[in-house]
Amino acid sequence: MNFKKDLKMKDNKENFDAIVIGSGIGGLVTASQLAAKGAKVLVLEKYIIPGGSGGSFKRKGYTFDVGASMIFGFGEKGYTNLLTRALKDVNEKCETIPDPVQLEYHLPKNLIIAVDREYEKFINKLSERFPHEKEGIRKFYGTCKKVFNCLDSMPLLSIEDPSYLFKVFFKAPLSCLGLARWLPINAGDVARKFIKDTELLKFIDIECFCWSVMPALKTPMINAGMVFTDRHAGGINYPKGGVGKIAEKLVTGIEKFGSKIRYRANVTEIILKDEKAVGVKLSNGEEIQAEIIVSNSTRWDTFGLNSNDKGLIARDYVPKSEYKWSETYKPSPSFVSLHLGVSGELINEDFNCHHIIVEDWEELENEKGVIFISIPTLLDSSLAPEGKHIIHAFTPSSIREWENLSREEYLEKKENYYSFLIEKISKIIPNLDQNIDHKEIGTPRTHRKFLGRFEGSYGPIPKKKLLGLLPMPFNTTNIENLYCVGDSCFPGQGLNAVAFSGYACAHKIGSKLNINNFKLPD
Ligand SMILES: Cc1cc2nc3c(=O)[nH]c(=O)nc-3n(C[C@H](O)[C@H](O)[C@H](O)COP(=O)(O)OP(=O)(O)OC[C@H]3O[C@@H](n4cnc5c(N)ncnc54)[C@H](O)[C@@H]3O)c2cc1C
Repeated sequence: MNFKKDLKMKDNKENFDAIVIGSGIGGLVTASQLAAKGAKVLVLEKYIIPGGSGGSFKRKGYTFDVGASMIFGFGEKGYTNLLTRALKDVNEKCETIPDPVQLEYHLPKNLIIAVDREYEKFINKLSERFPHEKEGIRKFYGTCKKVFNCLDSMPLLSIEDPSYLFKVFFKAPLSCLGLARWLPINAGDVARKFIKDTELLKFIDIECFCWSVMPALKTPMINAGMVFTDRHAGGINYPKGGVGKIAEKLVTGIEKFGSKIRYRANVTEIILKDEKAVGVKLSNGEEIQAEIIVSNSTRWDTFGLNSNDKGLIARDYVPKSEYKWSETYKPSPSFVSLHLGVSGELINEDFNCHHIIVEDWEELENEKGVIFISIPTLLDSSLAPEGKHIIHAFTPSSIREWENLSREEYLEKKENYYSFLIEKISKIIPNLDQNIDHKEIGTPRTHRKFLGRFEGSYGPIPKKKLLGLLPMPFNTTNIENLYCVGDSCFPGQGLNAVAFSGYACAHKIGSKLNINNFKLPD
């Protein structure tokens, strides 16, 4: 490639232009985008499979999703379908199965609402339950649609790149101004402009909480606009064969374009020279150099923030801006996850795939306050042996609940959480306990260990109410040639959000390497 002539000679034998630490979806989208632009990338993953929280693992004929299973970003049209686009850019595609209902809520006072793929059906159902708020409901979700339309009208690349911003502003000034307007706003403030009913406002809270783990007043409007509209536009689509297929296909694409991934490659240090990132050191002592280093590890793990453990950057070189960020955002709780293989007869074919249970609104943000349940075999029966279903259930839990326990105490606590979750799931799937064929329980300690995430956290949440998405950091860091990607970067958690972060990261690096070539819509 021509651009390589401009790059400095590298010491690594294979001349990698960039090293990506971690194969979460954010890391893989960065790597695949860079590979598609012509760069040679090395992805270093400490675990044995790709995908991080967006991976899948196999046990006894079952394919379980590690975390994510309600997938946005697989639409065919517009620009917000970043998973479809990321795969296409490396000549890959996931076969997907459309989910007719995003999820079914089971809320206090018997408020049971299913969010249909069809927008009008959902709005009408919600309006039937809250007839006095009919107009407010339309106005709130209509505003979300406006935000989404701005996002969906232009390629989503790095807002850190002035030349991209200039071009996109010139092409679509109204969309840009629309987005700029919503950047500092939270969904709860918009909801309160249109809606007065406190129960309905609680419903908007759980609508946000189920993906942002925050109530609406702390959830950025840009993210809400995206989620509350994409589920009806591109829809929720499940990748056939399990969510891990997305990562596997991105890896295939990365390799096809001449880049490489190594598993069991645990990066313990980012090597700095003259205060610039120049390479990485692995736990086996191996050192690899590259012009660009990208960390898909969380910002807490990359910089050793809020922790006595050292991060990947030597303490003396951690930029002050990172400490400042960690004063603004804190890690959300982790989860206790239950992966079950169960008898197929327990669940009717017309049952919805995703469910959320809240029994007491006061407990929403507390330990065990919300129960998430997914049955992905209702969409793809190939994930389980014949006649079986998978149930994946999880509930928020803090690492602090799980520390300083003896082995016996730890196992006993796991058993208590297991019984708690079985009891809650049984409310919507009776006779569960007697029909379990296989079970796996993961605690916040499991999430920390296998996903390499600080406190096993789901991702950053604001310490207090902030100005929408404005304080979320982008991909560049104050260390030259070091970039971050993933859910502790703009715009936050979720597979499509970290894909956005990956696109932006690769674009920002691409502009430095002078390898960007993107088209704006006519
Ligand atoms: C239980 C649960 C349910 C979820 N449900 C959904 C959902 O339904 N829909 C949705 O869109 N999102 C969901 N999410 C969120 C979504 O999965 C995450 O936001 C997203 O996958 C995070 O991606 P990431 O790129 O930040 O990287 P991560 O997934 O955190 O992956 C980072 C990778 O880097 C590796 N790594 C870390 N440090 C090192 C190192 N030093 N050396 C080498 N490798 C390293 C890790 O092993 C890991 O593979 C869920 C998450 C969880 C936990």
